[in-house]
Amino acid sequence: MGRIVITGGAGFLGSHLCDRFLARGDEVVALDNLSTGSVTNIEHLFGRSGFTFVEQDVSQFVWVPGPVDAVLHFASPASPVDYLELPIQTLKVGSLGTHNTLGLAKAKGARYLLASTSEVYGDPEVHPQPESYWGHVNPIGPRGVYDEAKRFGEAMTMAYHRSHGLDVRIVRIFNVYGPRMRPQDGRVVSNFLVQALKGEPLTVYGDGSQTRSFCYVDDEIEGFLALLEADTTGPLNIGNPGEFTVLELAELVLEVTGSSSEIVHEPLPVDDPRVRKPDLTRTRAILGWEPKIDLREGLVRTAAYFRTCLGQDPPA
Ligand code: NAD
Ligand code: UDP
Repeated sequence: MGRIVITGGAGFLGSHLCDRFLARGDEVVALDNLSTGSVTNIEHLFGRSGFTFVEQDVSQFVWVPGPVDAVLHFASPASPVDYLELPIQTLKVGSLGTHNTLGLAKAKGARYLLASTSEVYGDPEVHPQPESYWGHVNPIGPRGVYDEAKRFGEAMTMAYHRSHGLDVRIVRIFNVYGPRMRPQDGRVVSNFLVQALKGEPLTVYGDGSQTRSFCYVDDEIEGFLALLEADTTGPLNIGNPGEFTVLELAELVLEVTGSSSEIVHEPLPVDDPRVRKPDLTRTRAILGWEPKIDLREGLVRTAAYFRTCLGQDPPA
């Protein structure tokens, strides 16, 4: 049992982490400025013993009274639409926010987990991506605000480890989906499911031949917990190795929702990675972790969540 600080605790992944640690018997302090997250993700936890929420921008000085056993830094806009709308805030939370939360962990003698991303590999020239690959990132392109902030965050985390002996973990997260994604967050799974459920056209960017590997949130959270307990700094890739083209995803979404929406094509965003798939060799060897929920099953569960958000009845 411990006391866990989770930044970005009102977001998609952060709120699932709050649930998971509380279920394990830990205390949780969630810090969030509600820029892309929402109290609706954690309102079921208000009043629950062991849970504290503080509305706070972690790019500013961070302090949490009392003992802290682990700091999990998950605060950051994460959808390309969000970080393109919040470019400077994204750079700040990945750099200043990482520095501030590392400082908190150091002061408390706490373990630190940084939520990094497969975006550190940029538009990869190595496929699938092992952790040893240094990446192919355009620092001055629109996605650079996110990719470079995360790369800086990794460098700062390792500097605290090397200079201060801080006990750190870095996770490179590949595309995650599931309940509590915002219907309008702009990511591909939420866009397609909401479009399909509303009977609107599914917007495939480019020709849809680009690939992603989608991990259901429950699997991803178990991976984070395994990494936190493991004897490694990482970085470790955590994601589902099942690789799909965006067009395949669109067709699967139509099938699981029973929607007759058409598929339309829109321009591909600048620097959109052509391929993405985690090489899990290291993760399997060190954590023994493996995702369990396949894309079809995960989409069924996530569609049920979005039906509720949209006020639709479950299918007969
Ligand atoms: P999200 O937008 O749902 O959650 C991020 C949370 O951080 C939000 O609640 C937001 O309000 C909060 N936040 C942003 N800036 C803040 C600040 N300055 N101070 C305090 N709170 C702030 O996104 P998510 O999908 O839950 O992503 C969580 C983390 O995981 C991010 O760091 C993201 O980069 C990383 N990640 C996510 C994915 C994914 O597929 N979901 C993939 C790779 C990496
Ligand atoms: N995409 C798409 N239609 C959408 C939203 C996204 O075709 O409505 C594509 C996007 O161009 C990218 C992939 O889906 O190739 C994944 O996009 P997302 O925004 O989910 O995250 P990314 O993996 O790019 O960070």
